[in-house]
Amino acid sequence: MSQSSNADWLARSQAAVWHPCTQMQHHADSGSPTHLPLVPISHGKGAWLYDFDGKRYLDGISSWWTNLFGHANPRINAALREQLETLEHVMLAGFTHQPVVELSERLSALTAGTLGHAFYASDGASATEIALKMSFHYWRNVGRPEKTRFLCLQGSYHGETAGALAVTDVAIFKDAYAPLVRAATVMPSPDFRQAEAGESPADVARRAAAALESHLERHGQHIAALIVEPLVQGAAGMVMYDPEYLRLARQLCDRHEVHLICDEIAVGCGRTGSFFAHEQAGIRPDLMCLSKGISGGYLPLSIVLSSDRIYNAFLDDSVARAFLHSHSYTGNPLACRAALATLDIFAEDDIVAVNRQKAAKIASALAPLAGYRQVKHLRQRGMIAAFDVATSDPHFSRKFYRAALSHEALIRPIGNTVYLMPPYIVSDEEILHLGNAISGALAEALI
Ligand SMILES: *Cc1c(COP(=O)(O)O)cnc(C)c1O
Repeated sequence: MSQSSNADWLARSQAAVWHPCTQMQHHADSGSPTHLPLVPISHGKGAWLYDFDGKRYLDGISSWWTNLFGHANPRINAALREQLETLEHVMLAGFTHQPVVELSERLSALTAGTLGHAFYASDGASATEIALKMSFHYWRNVGRPEKTRFLCLQGSYHGETAGALAVTDVAIFKDAYAPLVRAATVMPSPDFRQAEAGESPADVARRAAAALESHLERHGQHIAALIVEPLVQGAAGMVMYDPEYLRLARQLCDRHEVHLICDEIAVGCGRTGSFFAHEQAGIRPDLMCLSKGISGGYLPLSIVLSSDRIYNAFLDDSVARAFLHSHSYTGNPLACRAALATLDIFAEDDIVAVNRQKAAKIASALAPLAGYRQVKHLRQRGMIAAFDVATSDPHFSRKFYRAALSHEALIRPIGNTVYLMPPYIVSDEEILHLGNAISGALAEALI
């Protein structure tokens, strides 16, 4: 490990690295209310990250929702070491290998065989683009070339490349690049915070589904697919909704011959209480996107799982009818091996059941927050807990983030929504640490 201090790495990073989704000037002026600290990390272990000056931070958001079983996990490390000595990479066009075959088989089994084919890329946005292209191309291959439009939900987030931005409805990401994008049609979100007096979350879901129905009745013949984040719209601010919406959307998509794409990039892999979030609605999608947690937070990997029906429509002598998409690192063996090691931990340790207990601990650690006057809509779905903060302070989110760091916690609000999305190895004591860091940071940020 390097002997340099935080200050050295800060200066060098600011001079040479362009950080993602960041106004770089906010890293520089440490006296300003918009200041965003840049934290140099020397190493990680379990749920903790350590800087170069000996400070530590509990990773309350799994390093942007990717890390499921902690940093430097011994089992994933061992699998990767072995893979490194065997095969680090081979192109997937014309070649195949053990990790990619085994991973595809196991993912298909996890969908009870309904999504029998796995297509590979490296990041979530690419998975979105692949799913959209597959849907569009399927309809052309089956003689329905007029089906070229897509539907997404209000507040949806499916990635930030130009194709993925078309189905992303988060203003900060979308507005700047609108002229580059062929925007999809935005349908009302089933966000249960929109309940009117006397309405249940299922009622809100039915109201949103009714709007989808009337749109499909008018325009269904031109629509290729509806893309949704099942149960929780993450980047919108952990917007949660009733599974009834997915059941109704599935029926409507079937009736109007529209694909249902489930983007499980954030909510898949045990995050919401079942291995895939859509299982809680008792439905299956036609296409599913996975990334983030699937490799345990180790390596960039994304996957689009497709039904046999879609896959079969591409089989033909003609190359033009094939699915025309590739990335240099498609199906990288190291990334696939990290995913297999991740799935092994799920099976060996019965993680979905373990998470149920941890989710209950998170609920009790956060329950006292309901007493704060400014805390609204305290909500939880499995290993995602969130609440909104009623404040007119435009700098709340940064103030809270800085205060949480001083309480040894990485908790980065989305606007005025504070959320926890910890790694699944988080201990009961660490859950209490996160709860205390939140109440401490809240008290300081609301001054
Ligand atoms: C993060 C995310 C993406 C994009 O993944 P990247 O790897 O960041 O491109 C897409 N959809 C959802 C639901 C996500 O949370």
